[in-house]
Amino acid sequence: MEFFVKAVKKTVLGIGRFLEFFTMGETDYKLHTPEGEDFEDVSDLFKARALVAKTKDMMQQGFGIILESPVIINLYEGKEFALKDTKKELCGVLGQYHYENLGKNNLAHMIYIAKGLEKRRFMSVLAHEMTHAFLREAKLMNCDRYLREGFARWVEYKTLIFLGLNEEAEKIVHIKTHKYGKDVEKIFRLEKKVGTEGVIQVLRRID
Ligand SMILES: [Zn+2]
Repeated sequence: MEFFVKAVKKTVLGIGRFLEFFTMGETDYKLHTPEGEDFEDVSDLFKARALVAKTKDMMQQGFGIILESPVIINLYEGKEFALKDTKKELCGVLGQYHYENLGKNNLAHMIYIAKGLEKRRFMSVLAHEMTHAFLREAKLMNCDRYLREGFARWVEYKTLIFLGLNEEAEKIVHIKTHKYGKDVEKIFRLEKKVGTEGVIQVLRRID
């Protein structure tokens, strides 16, 4: 019973936070800013890791998404990268998510992001890949890769708007021809009906 009360309280508080978060921009909403974050482009792992902390903070405040397992970030250059000695093609994407069965939870999130992205673009790609990490960790949307991709894009879209990159955000809405683009529209339609926090509540129930 006590657990239930706690859970309800947590949800109510969570929704209040979502509303507050989404009506403000980054400058109004004080996110924890790591020391020495005076750079524009993410050109090395030191900078990337500083933004992992900041993005985790944003994911928690904006979407109630918390990752228990470690996030291991890798930057890549060029059109492919090596994973377990296999070359992976990137096909023009800026980020990729993989996981490894290792560590305390037997799960480690491996996130690959193109080197040299502008700081806020990097954060939005990271938010997208962290959404995949969250879905894996929470075992949600297991059988629907299109919905998983749609949800990740929707989080990326929200992040871009939040960080003031509206033009980049619009590009995500207009990817319609590609198979993967379809489900993001589904989520926008759902959002119109149930609101931002409603989307998160609904999607959290799909396993
Ligand atoms: Zn994705």
